[in-house]
Amino acid sequence: MLLQFFAGLQRRFRFTHPSRSLVAGILCLVSVVGCGVEAESMAAIDDTGDLHLTYGKAKGEEFKRIRTALEETGFFDDLVDQLNEKLAFPNDINIVFTNCGVANAFYSPSDLEITMCYELIAYYLQIFEENIETEEDYQAEVIDATSFTFFHELGHAFVDQYELPITGNEEDAADNFATIIMLDVYGDDLGVISGMFQFDAEAMEEMENPEDLAYWGEHSLSTQRYYNTACLIYGSDPESFSFIVEDEYLPEERAERCESEYEQKSAAWWTLMEPFLKEEI
Ligand SMILES: [Zn+2]
Repeated sequence: MLLQFFAGLQRRFRFTHPSRSLVAGILCLVSVVGCGVEAESMAAIDDTGDLHLTYGKAKGEEFKRIRTALEETGFFDDLVDQLNEKLAFPNDINIVFTNCGVANAFYSPSDLEITMCYELIAYYLQIFEENIETEEDYQAEVIDATSFTFFHELGHAFVDQYELPITGNEEDAADNFATIIMLDVYGDDLGVISGMFQFDAEAMEEMENPEDLAYWGEHSLSTQRYYNTACLIYGSDPESFSFIVEDEYLPEERAERCESEYEQKSAAWWTLMEPFLKEEI
């Protein structure tokens, strides 16, 4: 299954990904924030840094295959190139895929580094394997879940580097950023749904030991992250994502205000980001 996954991963990137253009998405977003056809302003900061992607040594055959697949597809290499082209960064930020000993991802402001653990991708391979309908869907879900997590960490990096005035919980804001960038850049692509199901899988694991739930934690509980993400997705386009309510992924009581929730959060994020988009966009 794993080898098939990686073969399919390459097919997906080669033939599917180019249509999901970040460049086109950001062009669209410029009009979302009211700039009209062209961005008129220079980025508000000097572009003195870039994102730098590296793949750390992988321990063991499973992680080596994950590393090889990541390198061969070039998905994150292309994404990083596009982000560097379209956004001004004050400092270099390293993005490192590596073994961490734990299925996680994190941004370190002191090291200026986003760490994406190979173990996390192995975890996505595991949780999405349980609901496989087609091999293609399985591959897409793992890729999109990894992308969602990357954008969450990038959200933290933006808050830190651009000194964005976030009110409320930064973890929730980073979830919102990941959801919104995937929705607004990829349009009605179902990829962002993987982010929602990722929280659903984590919520089910959490509920196995409810006495251990971390009410004190920085992150909202996975169940809440799941519903908040579902609300933004549904609210972005209730017609395209009607199944979220019809199939009872999200209760009506919450769904009725999700359009305005989405509009508010999308406008907030792109208003905050707009000064850092480069002129040539
Ligand atoms: Zn976070």
